[in-house]
Amino acid sequence: PASLFSAIEMAPRDPILGITEAFNADKNPAKVNLGVGVYYDDNGKVPLLECVRKAEAQLMEKAAPRTYLPIDGLAAYDKAVQELVFGADSAVVQEKRAVTAQALGGTGALKLGADFLKRFSPNAQVWISDPSWENHRALFESAGFVVNTYPYYDASTRGVNFAGMLQALETMPAGSIVVLHACCHNPTGADLTEDQWTDVIRVVASRGLIPFLDMAYQGFGDGIDADGKVVRRFADAGGPLFVSNSFSKSFSLYGERVGALSIAAVSAEEAARVLSQLKRVIRTNYSNPPIHGGQVVATVLSTPELRQMWEEELAVMRVRIREMRQAMVQKLKEKAPGQNFDFVVRQRGMFSYSGLTKEQVQRLREEFSIYAIDTGRICVAALNSRNIDTVVGAIAKVL
Ligand code: PLP
Repeated sequence: PASLFSAIEMAPRDPILGITEAFNADKNPAKVNLGVGVYYDDNGKVPLLECVRKAEAQLMEKAAPRTYLPIDGLAAYDKAVQELVFGADSAVVQEKRAVTAQALGGTGALKLGADFLKRFSPNAQVWISDPSWENHRALFESAGFVVNTYPYYDASTRGVNFAGMLQALETMPAGSIVVLHACCHNPTGADLTEDQWTDVIRVVASRGLIPFLDMAYQGFGDGIDADGKVVRRFADAGGPLFVSNSFSKSFSLYGERVGALSIAAVSAEEAARVLSQLKRVIRTNYSNPPIHGGQVVATVLSTPELRQMWEEELAVMRVRIREMRQAMVQKLKEKAPGQNFDFVVRQRGMFSYSGLTKEQVQRLREEFSIYAIDTGRICVAALNSRNIDTVVGAIAKVL
């Protein structure tokens, strides 16, 4: 007789993990994996930040018992994160109109927001950028939403099709949920300018759309405050606002799953009701979050020396990526003089939509053991002073 599992089909493989598997199996010592979504230092290693090491040493000394955290997480963490995301002196924080709950990374924060929205706005549809982080669609669909795309990337300019994006926003039904990348757009690296954000904020407010800002790379664009500014501008504009943020990259704490969901409401009283319902979403999902990562981040953010150290270590990561962008453009000018790669320097964050075609990406893999995503997305944070010549040389050959 057929069992429960006998008719279950194999799910499609995660395309990015597939690339890593192929990379791991490759015996070429000169191989380079540009398909990842992780920051590597110039030695090709994922860093353990010194501020994290110090915070962990402090926590080890205290050696506290592991009771359950509150449903919405460690209070000191939620407070520090809310102040980081909105600004300590912002009206939403001062007036206690924002709620923040510790979440299992940025993904966990998005899922909490999606589940919350499904309960209270079940008929709304979700809009994500074209293209977007590949998990956005699946995540909101799995929460029960219809997911649409708005125009975003313009391959001809290697920038944002802003007219198309704005027009799409202007025709969305009121109450639509719009997922926006706060900074360092994944996968394209193309961000909006301040003036373009002004237009987006105006249209979102005038049409009564629900903005959901996803901030997975705060500090990797132009700096912690500069990258966070768009969140503050949305909060100042009033209206409901969802913000998911992640410390996976900015603290190099990928496996600790540290992120948060913040929601801005119009009053403290409304915020209290929102939090009470958000806690129900959490309670029925995983009850309460784990302690360690939240304690590390809370300790760093609220201890002045450690915070200073974090800001400096994050700046080192940001500057190194920028240097790799500049080196790549410079070296490509020499090796492929007919081609213009200046857009790589304009892009922000860990990724670049390189403009390489699927066939070129395939040749990089087969002939040079250089692994990128079929869309042409490369992780600039995986370039370093030792592999960049190999990578640029190979790109010049497949162009
Ligand atoms: N959102 C975007 C745009 C991302 O690129 C990522 C990670 O790659 C996430 C969310 C998820 O972050 P986390 O690893 O903290 O779940």
